[in-house]
Amino acid sequence: MRIRSPVYPGLLLALFIAMSAVAAPLPRHDPVPGGIAIIPVTAESRVTYRDRPIMTIEHEGERWALVGIPLSAEPGTHELVVSGERIRFEVLTRDYVTQRLTIANRRQVNPLPEDLERIASDRREMDAAFARFDEALPPQTQFLMPAQGPLSSSFGLRRILNGEPRNPHSGLDIAAPAGTPIIAPAGGKVTATGDYFFNGNTVLIDHGQGLITMYCHLSRIDVSPGDLVTAGDLIGAVGQTGRVTGPHLHWSVSLNNARVNPSLFVQDQDQDQGTPAN
Ligand SMILES: [Zn+2]
Repeated sequence: MRIRSPVYPGLLLALFIAMSAVAAPLPRHDPVPGGIAIIPVTAESRVTYRDRPIMTIEHEGERWALVGIPLSAEPGTHELVVSGERIRFEVLTRDYVTQRLTIANRRQVNPLPEDLERIASDRREMDAAFARFDEALPPQTQFLMPAQGPLSSSFGLRRILNGEPRNPHSGLDIAAPAGTPIIAPAGGKVTATGDYFFNGNTVLIDHGQGLITMYCHLSRIDVSPGDLVTAGDLIGAVGQTGRVTGPHLHWSVSLNNARVNPSLFVQDQDQDQGTPAN
């Protein structure tokens, strides 16, 4: 079915929500810090948010901007720039639960001076992978779960490690025994792999137009930078490398360099409200 351009964005959005039940290759609209705003735009427009290019997708004959909202964003009125014009949208409030964890290896909470150089170089590598905007890759908007297992730590938890406040949980944790296979949740290109100080053995995959996923704490990495993967391809195995309290997969999803709730991209996934554990 093809919709002719309605004039009112609100009407378009209502139509989209009504239609998404039958044909839903778009992620879930959840305009909160750590969520995604899905906003109708005119065809072929160039869209930016906070000076970064934004993914736009053709869906049911219309064009939509998929905007990742950083966890650090303030609720209130935000602006997209669509071919030079400003479009306002509202970011709503989301109260994330606080999680207290005890990490036995205190060096992983308060690194030693000699760790800082490695941490900085890890960060540069991951920052470069998250900053990509590849328009040649076919953009993906729906994910398979990358591993089978119960969700342990949900996205967005405010974290206190050994009594000290740290960055909020920027991914979703899947609890599974070491060795459990991890698959690519959608097609893309492996852009980085490494053994990082906090994240352990890690894989980053670019899914096109600023949509990047990251897999951490692996026991084994089965891909190399430059590899093209399709949904379901084996990329590694669950482990407990880096800063962990037990074996699990930490899965991050980044859109326009904002870490967003991975479950928004998984169909039939309940709201990610798992009981805090790892
Ligand atoms: Zn995690």
